[in-house]
Amino acid sequence: MEKYILDIIYLIGSVTFILGLKMLSHPDSARKGNLIAAFGMTIAILGAIFLEGGIGNHLWIFGGILIGTVVGWIAAKRVKMTAMPQMVSLFNGMGGACAAVISIVEYTKHDFSHGGAAMVGIIMAGLIIGTVSFTGSMIAFGKLNGNIGDKVFPGQKFINLVILLAAVGLATYLSMQPMADNMLLYVVLGIAVLYGVMFVMPIGGADMPVVISLLNSFTGVAAAFAGFVYNNQVMLTGGILVGSAGTILTILMCKAMNRSLFNVIAGAFGTAGGASGGDKQQGTVKEISAPDAAVLLAYSKKVFIVPGYGLAVAQAQHICHELEKLLEEKGVEVKYAIHPVAGRMPGHMNVLLAEADVPYDKLLEMEDANSEMPNTDVSIIIGANDVVNPAARHDQSSPIYGMPILDVDKSANVIIMKRSMAAGYAGIDNELFYYPNNRMLFGDAKASLQKLVTEVKAL
Ligand code: NDP
Repeated sequence: MEKYILDIIYLIGSVTFILGLKMLSHPDSARKGNLIAAFGMTIAILGAIFLEGGIGNHLWIFGGILIGTVVGWIAAKRVKMTAMPQMVSLFNGMGGACAAVISIVEYTKHDFSHGGAAMVGIIMAGLIIGTVSFTGSMIAFGKLNGNIGDKVFPGQKFINLVILLAAVGLATYLSMQPMADNMLLYVVLGIAVLYGVMFVMPIGGADMPVVISLLNSFTGVAAAFAGFVYNNQVMLTGGILVGSAGTILTILMCKAMNRSLFNVIAGAFGTAGGASGGDKQQGTVKEISAPDAAVLLAYSKKVFIVPGYGLAVAQAQHICHELEKLLEEKGVEVKYAIHPVAGRMPGHMNVLLAEADVPYDKLLEMEDANSEMPNTDVSIIIGANDVVNPAARHDQSSPIYGMPILDVDKSANVIIMKRSMAAGYAGIDNELFYYPNNRMLFGDAKASLQKLVTEVKAL
C-alpha cells in the first residue's frame, strides 16, 4: 500500500516540476510556477523520508532541513539584487556537492568487489560531474564577486585535458574492476575537484554566461545520476529537467555570444583586460546635461531603453519604469532592448524589469530591437557597456569580436548613462563613447534617472 502511495506522490512531484518549469518561462507565471514545483519537491521529500522504508535518523534529517531552511531563507531575504548571480552560483554548487556526497556514501557503503560495474559507473559519473559542478560554481562565485581573476597560463588546455582524462580513466578502471578499497575513489574525487577549478579558472570576460548555464546543467545531470543510484523516479525526473533546461540555456547563451561551446571551453578567450583594455583615448567624448537629455527624449517619436548591469547596481528599475511611463504620456513610443547576456546572470534584465512591473510586451529581444534601431530617435543606455560595444562587429583583436550586440549606434542619437569612462565586465574600451551621435550622461543611474524624471515632468 505504502509503495502505491509513494508512487502517486512521486508522480505528483514529477508533474509539478514539469508544470513549474513551464510556468517559469514567463515572468507573469514564474512566481506561481516556483511555488508549485516547491510544493511537489516538499511532498516528494516527505514521501521519501516516511514511506521509502528503512530511513531512520529522523532527528538528523529534520535537524539538517531546519538548518538549511533557516540559512537559505535568511540568505535569500538579505541578498542584494546585485549579488543574486553569486547566490545562484552558490546554490547551484550545493546541488552538485549533494550529488557527489551521495556517490561517496553509496560507493563506500556497498561492496562492489563481486560485480556491479554498471552501478559503479553511474556512481562515478555522479561523483565527477557533481564535484566539477561544485568546485566550478565556487570559482564562478568568486569571479562574479570580483574576488578571483582569470588565470591563463601556457599549456593550460593540454593540462586540463590530461586532468579530465585522468579522472574519466580512473573512474572507468574502478567500474571495470570494482575494488573494496576506497582509496581510489578519493583520488577520483581529488582529480575532479582540481578539474572543476582548472576548467572555470581561465574562462572569463564575456564568456561567463555560457559557463554558468553549463554548470547548471551539470548539477541537473549529477542529480539524475543520483536518482539512478537510488532508483528514485522523482529525483531522476528533476535531475533530467534541470540538466536539459541548463543544456538548452547553454545553447542559447552560445548563440547569444556567437560561439561554439568547444570554443568557449577550449578557447579561454574573453579574459578581462584583453587586447583592447586600458584607457587609450579614441576621440572626443561629448557630455549631455539632464535637462538637455530630457528635452531630447520628450520630443522624440521613438526611444529605446537599453538596460545593463549598472541598472541592477543602481537599483534604478522602478525610476526607469517611471521615466518610460512619463515619456509615453507625452506621446513617445518607448521600448526596452534586451541583450541575452546583459547583467550577470541569464535573464537578469527580465527579472529586474519584471520586479518594477514593466509590461513584458515592451521588452524586445536583440534581433527584433536591432531591426528597429535605424528608425529610433534616441537609444538611452542605462548601465550597459559590453552589450553595446561596436568593436564586437569589426575589431578582430577584441575579446568580444563576433558577439552579436545591440546596434544602438544605428539610432539617430545615443545617450549613455554611467558613472565614469570605466570598462564593463569584459574589461575593454568601448568606442561607442566617442561616436559623433553619442553623448554621455555621467552619474549613478538612479540619481540621473531621477533628474530626468523631474526635468521631463517640468516640460
Ligand atoms: P557591463 O558589465 O559591460 O557594464 C556595466 C556598466 O555599468 C559598467 O561599465 C559601469 O560603468 C556601469 N555601472 C555600474 N554601476 C553603475 C551605476 N550605479 N550607475 C550607472 N552605471 C553603472 O554590463 P552589460 O550588461 O553591458 O554586459 C554584461 C557583461 O557581463 C557581458 O560582458 C557578459 O558577458 C558578462 N556576464 C554576463 C553574465 C550573464 O549571465 N548575463 C554572467 C557573467 C558575466 P561605470 O563604472 O562607469 O558606472
